[in-house]
Amino acid sequence: MSDFNSVISFIKEQHNNQEFTPLHAPVFNGNEKKYLLDTIDSTFVSSVGAYVDRFEAMMCATSQTKKAVAVVNGTAAIQVSLRLAGVKEGDEVITQALTFIATVNAILYNGASPIFVDVDLDTMGLSPKALESFLIDNAELREDGAYNKKTGKKISACLPMHTFGFPVHLDELMLVCNNWKIALIEDAAESLGSTYKGRPTGSIGKLGAFSFNGNKIVTCGGGGAIVTNDEEMGIRGKYLTTTAKVPHAYEFVHDELGYNFRMPNLNAALACAQLEQLDAFLENKRSLAKQYQSFFTDKGIKFRTETPDTKANYWLMCVELENKQERELFLSETNSNGVMTRPIWQLMFRLPMYANCQRDGQQNALFLEERIVNIPSSVR
Ligand SMILES: *Cc1c(COP(=O)(O)O)cnc(C)c1O
Repeated sequence: MSDFNSVISFIKEQHNNQEFTPLHAPVFNGNEKKYLLDTIDSTFVSSVGAYVDRFEAMMCATSQTKKAVAVVNGTAAIQVSLRLAGVKEGDEVITQALTFIATVNAILYNGASPIFVDVDLDTMGLSPKALESFLIDNAELREDGAYNKKTGKKISACLPMHTFGFPVHLDELMLVCNNWKIALIEDAAESLGSTYKGRPTGSIGKLGAFSFNGNKIVTCGGGGAIVTNDEEMGIRGKYLTTTAKVPHAYEFVHDELGYNFRMPNLNAALACAQLEQLDAFLENKRSLAKQYQSFFTDKGIKFRTETPDTKANYWLMCVELENKQERELFLSETNSNGVMTRPIWQLMFRLPMYANCQRDGQQNALFLEERIVNIPSSVR
């Protein structure tokens, strides 16, 4: 007899009573096959092609930004966004320890080091209050930006992440970042379709980064996008991610260190077909979230919902258990009964590469780390 028997059967019912209910499975009911065949017929399967251009235009529309650059994955999108925002080797970047590893790796790829500041309990993303008090205690403002008093290094960017698609408190974060001359870049890898005060996540910071990995709300197999309202930065993003090639009819001239971070046209075709369905996916997921909310509320289990002034995409839905013991019980009973659930990530400073990074008290991150569990969230 399981403590969570009714939970297990309710989740299964919501997903057509499959033998195994995954956390998040992609759905291909649109023009995916048509566009893929089209790409093969055209022979333009690789690094240039009509679908890449179309995908970039669609991303501008979806994220309400002036420029979008298609790249090979979300991690590359964050890495290049940081470089575009001026992050240099030896700099420091403030982010949250409660995130997926890619957020933090992207900082290190630039030769910069992360500083971990606590998250808010309501959004599970970077806390403006914690950011401000960290800066007041540890930083000094100079002509050209904020400097860490302890390390002497420049704090050149702040990288909040919209956890599971729940938008962070962007206005408040922007205010603190502007006061301290720190560039705000949004890791919007999980939040395609989420809005903050009516504006799409990813469009509010200097740059935003999206992922189209297989487990995200919209997938193209693997892919990413950088979005920005700064046209020059967008053009430079395209140039850097396509080997920093100087335009020329036939010569190969590359005048600085670039990357081959292009999204193949084959993947862009899939991305276009999926993006066409984003609104339908959002509606579908929001209705599942509603069902979950009323069910779990009845059960006395906390189902996490969007905060005021925001709309979440409900990419991965989650419950907050009473304590670590309850969480372990929930995880073992659901997983052994064919319902896939997963705990939130371990905090980044537990990993050997990031164990020595500067951090604040992490009170809220530690609380959430012990309690948050993702539950099956696929489009049905
Ligand atoms: C998925 C994800 C990424 C990276 O995306 P990839 O496309 O897998 O490289 C980055 N940050 C967060 C928070 C993510 O969830």
